[in-house]
Amino acid sequence: MAYIITDPCVSTCDTACANVCPVDAIAGPIDVTAIVAMSAVGRPAGLQLFIDPNVCISCALCVPECPVGAIFEESEVPEQWRGAIERNAAFFGQ
Ligand code: SF4
Repeated sequence: MAYIITDPCVSTCDTACANVCPVDAIAGPIDVTAIVAMSAVGRPAGLQLFIDPNVCISCALCVPECPVGAIFEESEVPEQWRGAIERNAAFFGQ
């Protein structure tokens, strides 16, 4: 089962997770390099990153990199953030 990026990522959108992912499974609504550039002048409001479930190998390397603790294995997503599972699926057209 893949990992999911949940609500604390919204408007935080730190890209440290994407930097460590060995299979490039983490994507944003805009290119991650553009998010990095935006972050130089402030946090990108409303944006979050997503993990492609068809690419993620569940290595968990991204989990400790997230400064706001937003990443969970799908079955362990806290109840209040389970909407992130559907958001993630919709992002990848599933
Ligand atoms: Fe990438 Fe591993 Fe995180 Fe999946 S669990 S998004 S493969 S770093």
